[in-house]
Amino acid sequence: MKRVVIIGGGISGLSTALYLKEQAASAGHEIEYLLIEKGSRLGGNILTEKVDGFLLEGGPDCFLSEKPWTAQLCRHLGLGDQIMPTTEENKGTFVLSKGRLHEMPEGLILMVPTKIMPLIATSLFSWLGKLRMGLEIFIPPRHSKEDETLGSFVRRRLGNEALDKIAEPLVAGVHAGDPETMSMRASFPKFMEMEDEHGSLIKGMLARMRKAKEVQRASAGPRPTMFMTLKGGLSEMINAIVSRLGSSSIKLNTAVSRIEEKDGKYFVYLLPGTVPILRQDEALSVNRDSPLSLALSSARKSGTVHYIEADSVIISTPAHISSSLLVELDNPLSEKLQTIPYVSTATVTLAFNASEVKLPKSFGFVIPRVEERKIMAATFTSRKFAGRCSDEYVMIRCFVGGSKNEYLVDLDDKEMVDMARGELRDIIGISAEPVLSRVYRWRKAMPQYTIGHLERMRWISGRLHQHPGLYLTGSAYNGIGISDSIREGEITAKRALDYLFPKR
Ligand SMILES: Cc1cc2nc3c(=O)[nH]c(=O)nc-3n(C[C@H](O)[C@H](O)[C@H](O)COP(=O)(O)OP(=O)(O)OC[C@H]3O[C@@H](n4cnc5c(N)ncnc54)[C@H](O)[C@@H]3O)c2cc1C
Repeated sequence: MKRVVIIGGGISGLSTALYLKEQAASAGHEIEYLLIEKGSRLGGNILTEKVDGFLLEGGPDCFLSEKPWTAQLCRHLGLGDQIMPTTEENKGTFVLSKGRLHEMPEGLILMVPTKIMPLIATSLFSWLGKLRMGLEIFIPPRHSKEDETLGSFVRRRLGNEALDKIAEPLVAGVHAGDPETMSMRASFPKFMEMEDEHGSLIKGMLARMRKAKEVQRASAGPRPTMFMTLKGGLSEMINAIVSRLGSSSIKLNTAVSRIEEKDGKYFVYLLPGTVPILRQDEALSVNRDSPLSLALSSARKSGTVHYIEADSVIISTPAHISSSLLVELDNPLSEKLQTIPYVSTATVTLAFNASEVKLPKSFGFVIPRVEERKIMAATFTSRKFAGRCSDEYVMIRCFVGGSKNEYLVDLDDKEMVDMARGELRDIIGISAEPVLSRVYRWRKAMPQYTIGHLERMRWISGRLHQHPGLYLTGSAYNGIGISDSIREGEITAKRALDYLFPKR
């Protein structure tokens, strides 16, 4: 029987394992697979916690409805009725500018203005800034296949103010990145396509909105909001995948240290000390018919190092870790993976008695880096999505770190909470004592698609042809969010099966 080892139990590894299992079953292929996760839980960056009636998301809290793969997977998992939009009555976002919060003008989609009156009326931009944004429609398209940074693109099309006040905090902010290094083609290809196709972002966005309306008219059901989530938190999706995979094909608390390749087989080495399951007695206690038992039965012991033999290996760890796993197998590939930069971030969730806090009606605010504040943004979590906590409380989540203030991720919990409280005091006047506080750190967890990313990806894909059966998947490569990771997982599963069971 063909054996596949999947390394990493984040959404990329889990969705790959699920699609692999289901695609193999529907094609009548017999495979055994084993997903190996270093940590004691599954989900990677996705982490929902329920504490004293509060629903907290430590990492991602939503997915983009524009990218259909998360919603599709959730429906497939039987979670269709758990998908939830943002709350209509609180919609809106504020932007901090010169120390004051300004409401983002209606019709400003990502960074493109689509309505004239709100743009004229807003206090966020100067008159010159507004005029420059409006003139976008007359700026000739560049029509070049060359890549460009987000900073250069936005300055060229919409002007400096749009970059500083909107594109940097909102668009680059999603990646916690630096607009002066982010690749437009790799990170935001849709904007470049709009410029190419319509000659202008404003025209392109209006055309896109018309199309979306037609699609919506043709489809039944409520209109999805830009951001969606699951009623019980995003970990519901993780739990549903895990229950379909079955615990016997998943190994927690086990870190892979390196991968070797010999005579068309892969050898996945497990870090000494993290492989108690490979002890003879424990391996025997595992259900003999389970895929894990089958995988372990051929696991060898050499000195203090253990390995599992596989016909195909799918690596879904962050690129810098994947790099370290491949040092011996392919050093140039390993070095190339190291060139994908990552930044660290943290989230600080604070809950307050609702009676002690007055929040502007919105989902929260973003902070341009020119404001020189410590947090990047704050989401009014309990306003953005229903059911996150009882009405007696409000919950706010602050984003810390990113390319500008990465060092802040190293603050200890008390320092981090004090810092976040200080920022909320200065910006929205909250001086109340929180009834709950939680800090989540995400070290080197956000890949950055910098200039040259697409060339890097072409090189990496070409190089992988030298190692048939070896695959890299995850947010480091072809799309940064949850939906992209799921889509990549499905594609990777298909590739692995096509390799293992070639069509005659
Ligand atoms: C703070 C934050 C907020 C975010 N918000 C959003 C959002 O709202 N919406 C959205 O779409 N995206 C968001 N993202 C991005 C999203 O989290 C990622 O796209 C997605 O979770 C990536 O999943 P992954 O499986 O590729 O990687 P990971 O989640 O990093 O999973 C990799 C797994 O590999 C394991 N591992 C590492 N080393 C080893 C080893 N040696 N052996 C075995 N296992 C190993 C890790 O423990 C981990 O479980 C956010 C990210 C962060 C950090």
